[in-house]
Amino acid sequence: MLPYSLTRFIELFSKIPGIGPRQAHRIAFWLLRHDKNFLYSYGFAIRDLADKIHVCRQCFFVFETTSGGSETLCTICRNPSRDQTRIAVVEKETDLISIEKTKQYAGLYHVLGGLFSPIEGNNHDLKVQELANRIRENPQTQEIILAFSHTAEGDLTAMELERILKPFPAHITRLGLGLPRGADVEFADEDTLGNALQSRR
Ligand SMILES: [Zn+2]
Repeated sequence: MLPYSLTRFIELFSKIPGIGPRQAHRIAFWLLRHDKNFLYSYGFAIRDLADKIHVCRQCFFVFETTSGGSETLCTICRNPSRDQTRIAVVEKETDLISIEKTKQYAGLYHVLGGLFSPIEGNNHDLKVQELANRIRENPQTQEIILAFSHTAEGDLTAMELERILKPFPAHITRLGLGLPRGADVEFADEDTLGNALQSRR
């Protein structure tokens, strides 16, 4: 019933988390009410994500390369005024952004890319080995802050990492009690998250 290009668009957009087929239909028809250049701006924005955004080889956060640039580290890892002795381990990029917004943390990060799952075999994509290697290669690391949400999976991940990182001399802390049970780091307000950072232990 629908033209092929429209069907294809809806199929692709339905795959985006939080967007189902119904919303994808709405987005498609909303876009079609605009002119060509408006539609192209969406296309170019997605193309730029593919072409210009890279993942930091050290912390796995994203950064943009300047034209002809050959950077492999993000702006946080490249910034010499950040505290090089601390690494905050976060589940995902948006958690890092939330912590940055509190302006109460000046150390480095490590984006794990998910949390440990109680289901065996689900944990192979996490950047755990990369974290261990990084701490091994950077003996100046004094504190590793496990900045996970206070959920069952967050607790499990903290437990696993404590076990894996035990051989290293760095002090392992976790976000403090300011963060309530079930609270997601990403959605915690800045004050709550700031307090949780201050009261880590
Ligand atoms: Zn980085």
